[in-house]
Amino acid sequence: MKITKVKGIYDILGKEAEIFSLIEETFFRLTKHFGYKRVFLPILEKEELFVRSVGDSTDIVEKEMYTFLDKGKRKVALRPEGTAGAVRAYIENQVFLSESYTKWSYFGEMFRYENPQAGRRRQFYQAGCEYFNAPSPLADGEVIYLAYRILKELNVNAKLYINSIGCDKCRGPYKTLLIDYLKSKEDKLCSDCQKRLKRNPLRVLDCKNPVCKDIIDEAPNILDHLCECCKLHFEQLKEILDILKVPYKIDPFLVRGLDYYTKTVFEFKVDSLGAQNTVLAGGRYDKLIKELGGPDIPALGFAMGVDRVALCMKEAIKDTRHGVILLPLDEKLLPYAVKAFKLLSESTSILEQIKEDIDTKKFNLVLKLMKDEKLRDFLVAVRDRIELPNKISKIRKMFSLADKKNFAYALIIGEEEASKNLITVKNLDTGNQFQLSLNMFEG
Ligand SMILES: [Zn+2]
Ligand SMILES: [Zn+2]
Repeated sequence: MKITKVKGIYDILGKEAEIFSLIEETFFRLTKHFGYKRVFLPILEKEELFVRSVGDSTDIVEKEMYTFLDKGKRKVALRPEGTAGAVRAYIENQVFLSESYTKWSYFGEMFRYENPQAGRRRQFYQAGCEYFNAPSPLADGEVIYLAYRILKELNVNAKLYINSIGCDKCRGPYKTLLIDYLKSKEDKLCSDCQKRLKRNPLRVLDCKNPVCKDIIDEAPNILDHLCECCKLHFEQLKEILDILKVPYKIDPFLVRGLDYYTKTVFEFKVDSLGAQNTVLAGGRYDKLIKELGGPDIPALGFAMGVDRVALCMKEAIKDTRHGVILLPLDEKLLPYAVKAFKLLSESTSILEQIKEDIDTKKFNLVLKLMKDEKLRDFLVAVRDRIELPNKISKIRKMFSLADKKNFAYALIIGEEEASKNLITVKNLDTGNQFQLSLNMFEG
């Protein structure tokens, strides 16, 4: 019997895998540029971590977590999000003792037991950032700008929504006000919101049920009830975003579905993707580190939904020709083909190492070749991709394979080439050919 995958869990292959890689590369390039260091964090954590951080009355913890007893009877969970584990690691490794501030980035799988639909999978991928010990609104501005830049580079057209949900000081009185208001409308709220009203009234503001929409629109607005400190923080953030020319909308009912947020929260949404239209979201969590047993250190971060971003980028990868394949015409020519493969591959690796130890001879060679347009294109193709054939067969068969695999160039290696230390380069798009001496690459 054929064994199939688990419901809601997918293989990422082909074009989708290419897009995932492109997202990952872009994400780490830009986060590094803004000073973030990549970390590798566990997928498995104690269940208690999420109950205490994400919150026991949130949908994630109440309904969606993959939890089980391990063989040692420990209650464990597959992580439903990245921040809780990052904060746990930050505290447990006492990173705050050696670093005045810390910026982490990560990329990995998360798990939530939800009904699978487009943009909602039970195993999904998040690219996340955490910035520890960052009290200033400058940090909020920088983090949001980073998120904005990443989506922009990926050509994802998303709108930014921001809000402040206040701090311990101002949220308490606001909650009382909100509860009073919602209680007066309780019988008109959806059944979920009637439950939320008792356990987590702020979450009512997040309700997507049209029944609740009108009630929410009339609800007291958190931004009218911020304390002086939160108000100033939010004003400064808006000013910073204006200078950075990051367009945003203020959504006073944006609360995010997690308990740990304070002050700034934000979401990037796209017009496509229906109800699952949030592609990146984050905010400030100034109390979380202390609540999980660490020192009182303010922090913030965001996570990008890689699966959803990939859905927006279907057109990103085009089937254009790229790379080079070597085609020895005969088994006898195999050693010569392998030699040419090594020389060419190593000649362009120099382009990757330009910062480090530069082998001057090879560098000069590359410079010389780069001056000739034809050779430059060829060399760029070599750097991109160079392969030996999977087996040696009839030349026509090998050409058709090179064509199917979308190579830009085929290197023909025959008796004449081997005897004169040459390669024949054939442009598979135009059919044009030229010869190149391997002596150049031997230096
Ligand atoms: Zn406040
Ligand atoms: Zn509702």
